[in-house]
Amino acid sequence: MSRSNPLPQVAAIYCRVSTTAQSEEGTSLASQEAACRAYAEARGYAVGPIFTDVHSGADLFRRDGMADLLRAIKQREVGIVIAYALDRLSRSQIHFGLIYSEADHAGVPIELVTEKLDDTPVGRFVMAANSFSAEIEREKIRERSLRGKKTRVQSGKIHNHSAELYGFRRDKDRGVRTVYTPEAGIVQRIFAAVAYEGITIRSLARDLNSDGVPAPSEGKRTYKDGRVCRWNPSTLYRMLADPSYKGDTVLWRHRSRGAGKMWQLRDEGEWIRLPEGTTPPIVTAELWAAAQERLRTGTVSTTRNADRPYLLRGLIYCSVCGNRMYTCPEHGRPMYRCSSRGKALGACGGKRVNGDAVESWAWSQIETILRDPSTIIAEVERRRQRGPDAALQSNRDATARLLAKLEKQRERLIRRYADADDDSFPWELVEREVARVESERRTAQALLADIDARLGEQETAIVRLDSLRTYCDRVSANLEHADFATRRNAVEALIERVDANGRDWTLIGSIPTGESVGVVSHSS
Ligand SMILES: [Zn+2]
Repeated sequence: MSRSNPLPQVAAIYCRVSTTAQSEEGTSLASQEAACRAYAEARGYAVGPIFTDVHSGADLFRRDGMADLLRAIKQREVGIVIAYALDRLSRSQIHFGLIYSEADHAGVPIELVTEKLDDTPVGRFVMAANSFSAEIEREKIRERSLRGKKTRVQSGKIHNHSAELYGFRRDKDRGVRTVYTPEAGIVQRIFAAVAYEGITIRSLARDLNSDGVPAPSEGKRTYKDGRVCRWNPSTLYRMLADPSYKGDTVLWRHRSRGAGKMWQLRDEGEWIRLPEGTTPPIVTAELWAAAQERLRTGTVSTTRNADRPYLLRGLIYCSVCGNRMYTCPEHGRPMYRCSSRGKALGACGGKRVNGDAVESWAWSQIETILRDPSTIIAEVERRRQRGPDAALQSNRDATARLLAKLEKQRERLIRRYADADDDSFPWELVEREVARVESERRTAQALLADIDARLGEQETAIVRLDSLRTYCDRVSANLEHADFATRRNAVEALIERVDANGRDWTLIGSIPTGESVGVVSHSS
């Protein structure tokens, strides 16, 4: 029920007396109405129609006033119903259940002058029962649509329910899938990254997000708080395990346990296989199998030439469009490719880069530095003296102050909220305010954690440089025999980024080296 309508709500008042209790104090029609009016006025509701019943108590379902009220609720002529007390609406739990269910369905809240509905045992029971029966109703609808879906699948056609499988679009008439090229490129990238490069699905999700690749649910799902859809490990896991990508159409593999709940894999006996050709493959059976192996064992298989670690992974960017390049072996040769190749906007035209060539060039630049570690020593000195980034530090202080302020606000609100027991207390306002402060507090907290991480990274960078210096002293004579882990460490410490297009490369060093201030280019 939405209570955030800024317009004055039209409140209907319902009053009832039984002929036997007519004389009881405080229950006369006039006094009930007066109390309801005062209640409405205190909350800024506009008083609308007034419904009354006088009855003997036995004729529960023959109340004209109540019948008119229910009609007004159904037609949404009123926004709120006010009654003096719960027993004025009905003395019967079942009867009140019917009234409540009607009002709840129309989104019309029922408010009582003398008590809060959810404080009364009957009110609580009826609300719970009502939401329970709504749940059953939803479940029935789901069952019905599930039956229709299964019938279509059993007839050998892709069903048209739920979202499209990423990488494909449905051909609804023929009941088959067709490849959707912009997404298919991403699918290939995902499988190759996991199967051949041994990238964890967690860091793959991060890479896809930082490359700005739209997540599968983007545009299909929206969040109230303005969050955007992002790649996450569980989405990737489900994609990687889906045999559709190698051209096997197996449906009825999962059962959903209702909106927003976890998916569950069905027993294999329940799966329904559709004929070959229903889904065209996006990756080869070998690549798919290699990805499964990797998911199962957590290790990269080492049967292919191309299965080698990439020295510049994550540090190499396309110099045409600025997107990160990803690794993609071609006929067994290591290659870096621009990630725009798989994006919906289309490829930028940047040329692929030979992995062996660009890596040995980049490594030779690093060797020069390592053979003469004086630049590293100077840089460590310089960074130590400069201390933490001043702008970042002052940003941190400001964020910490904001966070403290929000925490105080939150506590104050919660204290006021807990102490209030009076009917005229503006509950909804306070609830909204608490939610706002809470959301601002979470944002500030995340920001602070991010700044701390970045400050930590700066310190780590210094430590890494320093250990590199010690390392240089020790092995400078023996650099060509450094193993991959050592090289990768040095690369991460000394290279900010490499911009590349075909055979044109520019290396931006993370430390200034002599007159070239850390930038070296290559062209051929
Ligand atoms: Zn590019």
